[in-house]
Amino acid sequence: MGVTEQILSQIAGNPWAGLQRADGLWTDIREGTRPIPSLVDTESTALNGTDWDVVIAGATLGVVIGTALVQRGWRVLLLERGELRGREQEWNISRKELQTLVRLGLLTEAELEEAIASQYNPARVAFHEGVELWVEDVLNIGVDPVTLLDQLKTKFLVAGGRLLEQTAFEGATVQPNGVTIRAGGQVLTSRLLLDMMGHFSPIAAQARHVQQPGAQPDGICLVVGTCAEGFTANNPKANDSGDLMASFAPIRNQCQYFWEAFPAKDGRTTYLFTYIDSAAERQSLEALFDDYFELLPEYQGIERSQLDFKRALFGVLPCYRQSPLKPGWDRILQVGDSSGTQSPLSFGGFGALLRHLPRLVEGLDEALTVDCLDQKSLGLINGYQPTIAVTWLFQRAMRVGLDQKLGANQVNEMLSAVFRVMEASGEATLKPFLQDVVQFPALASTMLKTGFAAPLTVAKVLPQVGLPALLRWTGHYAGLGAYSLLSLISRGGADVELKFSPKTLFYLHRWKELLEYGAGMDYDD
Ligand SMILES: Cc1cc2nc3c(=O)[nH]c(=O)nc-3n(C[C@H](O)[C@H](O)[C@H](O)COP(=O)(O)OP(=O)(O)OC[C@H]3O[C@@H](n4cnc5c(N)ncnc54)[C@H](O)[C@@H]3O)c2cc1C
Repeated sequence: MGVTEQILSQIAGNPWAGLQRADGLWTDIREGTRPIPSLVDTESTALNGTDWDVVIAGATLGVVIGTALVQRGWRVLLLERGELRGREQEWNISRKELQTLVRLGLLTEAELEEAIASQYNPARVAFHEGVELWVEDVLNIGVDPVTLLDQLKTKFLVAGGRLLEQTAFEGATVQPNGVTIRAGGQVLTSRLLLDMMGHFSPIAAQARHVQQPGAQPDGICLVVGTCAEGFTANNPKANDSGDLMASFAPIRNQCQYFWEAFPAKDGRTTYLFTYIDSAAERQSLEALFDDYFELLPEYQGIERSQLDFKRALFGVLPCYRQSPLKPGWDRILQVGDSSGTQSPLSFGGFGALLRHLPRLVEGLDEALTVDCLDQKSLGLINGYQPTIAVTWLFQRAMRVGLDQKLGANQVNEMLSAVFRVMEASGEATLKPFLQDVVQFPALASTMLKTGFAAPLTVAKVLPQVGLPALLRWTGHYAGLGAYSLLSLISRGGADVELKFSPKTLFYLHRWKELLEYGAGMDYDD
């Protein structure tokens, strides 16, 4: 029995079985054997009315959007194939994003505090033989998903929402005035279907296949980790701080390994993650977990035998260059992980949803009000955002191709060079980046300064990422500049709104939001 099986099979809830299922999925992705779902079709006959304004498939973060919409008076139904219950492991987030729940009236301040399970400061960013820096108030709050989702579920039901648990989405037919949805043997009709079934949503997979036949994920983040007690055995202060991103070794197995550590309500969470492609030869999650257990003592300065493992955590997180995903049909929109709106670096999908929540709720509310539920209109809610697109190259620069011969410490050297410049530029540059927001002025000055400070290191990145990726990135970089400029201009345009029809206003509002969020300028508000 391997070390991973030995440890995971002793943890409550049998995460070993879950790891094997996740590894099965990962094998299918690598071998390209995942079936392409075909659960959505279209029909030209109209419905005789609809039972719901919005049906949301997938209730984990669906309950956040669902509660906001039901509180605005819409008829909302949540479908969940299992039970609507948050995971035991905290979601880490920064205060500003979390506060959105209060700003939108979803929680009171007191309820929000109740959902916070842990808080800490400071957090470290450090790379092998390179930079070490500390920041405050970034991803330093651990939210208890069980409490949060329970609070929201109650609000959702009290406001008149309906929840169907143990009811899996099975298929949908898009019709001119609504969608017929099949779920758990029932037939439901709705004006709009929100697909919130996560990274492996069958609707999102079908939509991607229609837009890019046979497309494989453009990148994968493999993550494994645990929450354990006992880190303070040798050092009482060992759990007073966290790591946002740390490495303490050069490239191994054609991967640069990164680590994260967060104080948690019942111990310390540590993750090992790496960015890779989905080539068939890549390692399994179990193999990465074996490395995690081998390296954890060196990372945290403690013997494995001193730790009491409470939970095991893991994921195969796919990402696609074409993100956010454009709607594949009228009346169906992806939200949450299925939409690809989260950063391809952090994969902090809870944080990303809360950051985008004000514009999503506004956009959906207005779309329902003025009946802008066609593919093109919904496409503006999930429109192109250069701030996400430019982040792609950063992921690419942290990835080592199976046939690439990079210097053993090349990725660490590059990251150290960039973070040294960002640290010297100050918090206004560093903090948005660490919170998944890339802004044009900060990016432009960081690139320029890094180019001067470490020209050889920067030069090595070019052959690593390749010319096509670099050229594509240059387009997104120009897009980020254009969005920033247009967003600044659009901020002055509020007075002329009265002259337009409601549908034109819908388009104007979506463009304004897209420019602001797509340029990362929402961060400054
Ligand atoms: C190890 C790990 C650590 C993470 N840590 C953080 C963190 O600290 N901070 C952060 O912001 N994010 C974190 N994330 C990411 C975060 O968990 C996700 O972004 C978030 O859960 C996305 O929510 P979602 O509702 O979009 O998708 P999911 O969480 O995948 O939920 C999808 C929902 O759809 C349901 N569903 C699926 N298929 C069907 C169907 N056919 N019918 C009905 N329902 C269905 C599922 O049961 C589930 O409830 C982490 C992820 C991992 C893997």
